[in-house]
Amino acid sequence: MLMLPAIDRDRLVRTLLDLVQINSPSKQEEAAVAYVRSALTAIGLANNEDAVHNVYAHLPGRRSAAAPLLVNAHVDTVQPTPNIRVQLDGDVLRTDGRSILGADDKAGVAAILEVLQLLQTSDIPHAPLDVLFTVQEEIGLNGAKAVEFDRLSAREGVCLDVSGPAHHLVVAAPGQNSIEATLVGQSAHAGVAPELGKSAIVAAARAVVAMPLGRIDAETTANIGLIRGGQARNIVPDRCTLTGEARSRDRGKLARQTEAMVGALKAAAEQSGCQLELTVTDSYTAFSYDATAPVVRRCLDAIRSLGRDPELGATGGGSDANIFNKHGIATVLLGVGYEDIHTSNEHIAITAVVDLAQTLLALVTG
Ligand SMILES: [Zn+2]
Repeated sequence: MLMLPAIDRDRLVRTLLDLVQINSPSKQEEAAVAYVRSALTAIGLANNEDAVHNVYAHLPGRRSAAAPLLVNAHVDTVQPTPNIRVQLDGDVLRTDGRSILGADDKAGVAAILEVLQLLQTSDIPHAPLDVLFTVQEEIGLNGAKAVEFDRLSAREGVCLDVSGPAHHLVVAAPGQNSIEATLVGQSAHAGVAPELGKSAIVAAARAVVAMPLGRIDAETTANIGLIRGGQARNIVPDRCTLTGEARSRDRGKLARQTEAMVGALKAAAEQSGCQLELTVTDSYTAFSYDATAPVVRRCLDAIRSLGRDPELGATGGGSDANIFNKHGIATVLLGVGYEDIHTSNEHIAITAVVDLAQTLLALVTG
């Protein structure tokens, strides 16, 4: 059995500390991108970026027949992040409680950089790697959607960006359709001539009440998250806009759920004498693999080689992996170990980040 070089825990922690102390909310990733690029350069890896500032690096394989692998994490975070103050209490890294930590997804970024460093400073065999650090993940996977896919040769990938320990492998995620609907009625004075009006708010209300929403089944959900309409108390409202979504890990169910929501909108518009302006956007596509898929088997082997029991799971959220899958790169998600993400209580155990780096090292050398 191959002896893997040991993860340099102190170096990994330093990298993670550096990264989380860089303010990098979506669309303001310049400093984080600069840090990652200089780290790659210091490791001896040529790197470049595209128009939206995704960062690319490529490692040719070394004495390995393994298929090329895409390795990804995102450098942006949600808000709030300015003046982030981190504290390491025991094994746990957290903030002073006034901001998020950004371990989502900087723990993934740090683990990748550590593994690349180890590959470069040892002569251990490894698969060819397409390394990709994305931007703007948190605001709609915009960085991933702008990736120049002809720069990538891998047809299998791993995205280090999901909750759970590093032996937790997410192999299925929903697709999402976004719905934006505006009901257009007729305005009128509410006291003088209400009978001349056609209330867009009433039409919207009818539509929402008629829609199946919330948890539809184990793999399907739906929500109307925003409603906006009307001008004043005494005016029958002529416009009301609804913004919502449907998600499912099953394409057929996603189509049916979307159809049900659109149907409710059309019926309510007709019943209320309103027009309907409708946009349905395919935000991202579902994926689902079982334990026999080559990329899943690779990950399972890596986790088992470390003496751990892998667990396979599904998520209800979308990630860059959805976009990679849509572009023909069979990508699964590896648990990063972060907790309470997107809150000021976000924290992560250093042990979890070390586990993550170890798992990734086993994966790329497997
Ligand atoms: Zn993330």
